[in-house]
Amino acid sequence: MEKRDYYEVLGVSRSASADEIKKAYRQMAIKYHPDKNPGDKSAEDKFKEAAEAYEVLSDPQKKANYDRFGHQRMGGPGGGGHHMNMDDIFSQFGDIFGDGNPFESFFGGGGGGRGRGTRQRVGTNLRVKVKLTLQEIATGVEKKIRVNKQVACSSCSGSGAKDKSSFKTCGTCGGAGQVRKVTQTFLGQMATTSTCPTCNGEGNVITNNCTSCRGTGRMEGEETITVKIPAGVADGMQMNISGKGNAPERGGIPGDLHVLFEEIKDPILRRDGNNIIYEHFINFADAALGTQIEVPTVTGKVKLKVDAGTQSGKILRLKGKGLPEVNNPRYVGDQLVQLNVWTPKKLSNEEKNILEKFRDSENFHPKPEQSERNFFERMKEFFN
Ligand SMILES: [Zn+2]
Ligand SMILES: [Zn+2]
Repeated sequence: MEKRDYYEVLGVSRSASADEIKKAYRQMAIKYHPDKNPGDKSAEDKFKEAAEAYEVLSDPQKKANYDRFGHQRMGGPGGGGHHMNMDDIFSQFGDIFGDGNPFESFFGGGGGGRGRGTRQRVGTNLRVKVKLTLQEIATGVEKKIRVNKQVACSSCSGSGAKDKSSFKTCGTCGGAGQVRKVTQTFLGQMATTSTCPTCNGEGNVITNNCTSCRGTGRMEGEETITVKIPAGVADGMQMNISGKGNAPERGGIPGDLHVLFEEIKDPILRRDGNNIIYEHFINFADAALGTQIEVPTVTGKVKLKVDAGTQSGKILRLKGKGLPEVNNPRYVGDQLVQLNVWTPKKLSNEEKNILEKFRDSENFHPKPEQSERNFFERMKEFFN
């Protein structure tokens, strides 16, 4: 099924503010919440669809990518795909509704049965730039990237504790990681669950810190990461590799590594989407007599026949010699070769004499046909 536009899903305009997006999602989440629509498959689908849209539009980086590339997905490990399961969606609610998830009390049931348990720490994301030549983009490439980052402490394996006996159960929450609070609201009594402030949701506290990391559970380190970059990427596109970012304090899940692609400008081949544009100069004699030329492409040199009587500005199409589409590698663009006839700027006396003889020759009088006149028509035809 065709994915619906995320803005359309949330019913907001493309220029909606972060606040408006959040508000719109909050309304949809309440309306289509499964506790409120038991057994209603279409409500569940709408609920998931809205969560997915919000997940993207609430993240400035993902939103920018979506605005630019739409639903187009990136290949590679951890790349693309915003398929969210119910747990992902419920964990999002902390952001929307504050730490207390209202659904527990609004709709009954639920009651912590979502298995949220103690909170897991997530490390921060990292961003690296990778420069790519057109040739690398044409074929796809594997790059080894060295990343300086926070890694789990090797002495305590990231726990932050000196040894196994250096933990005790948190006294505030009794190890649950969450505390419940009952408040009076206009809707009646409402129980909210929030993260335990003493242990930050971990359920236990450290009594003796690891000496290597002073209890943080992490240290400065580096990792060399092999990234398989698919063919056809473009400047500004980004690939996300989950779990390769910074390690969080005291265990948990590392953040993501965002790999941003930067295209190195080629000195002679110009990119236009999936097509490559190349200008080739031929001399006047070759244009008149015809010849064979060799032109560079992103995948190597190609021989090309130039017909006798070729006009300056003629465009030849090399089918399939452009760049593959990143999400549909079977589709490959073309290379357009524009032939320009070079007019000599300097002439010897002998050359002058020969050309003088032709100056008034009948065949040298320009007689352009209609097809050779309509420059704009030709441009349109080639760029469509
Ligand atoms: Zn340590
Ligand atoms: Zn606690």
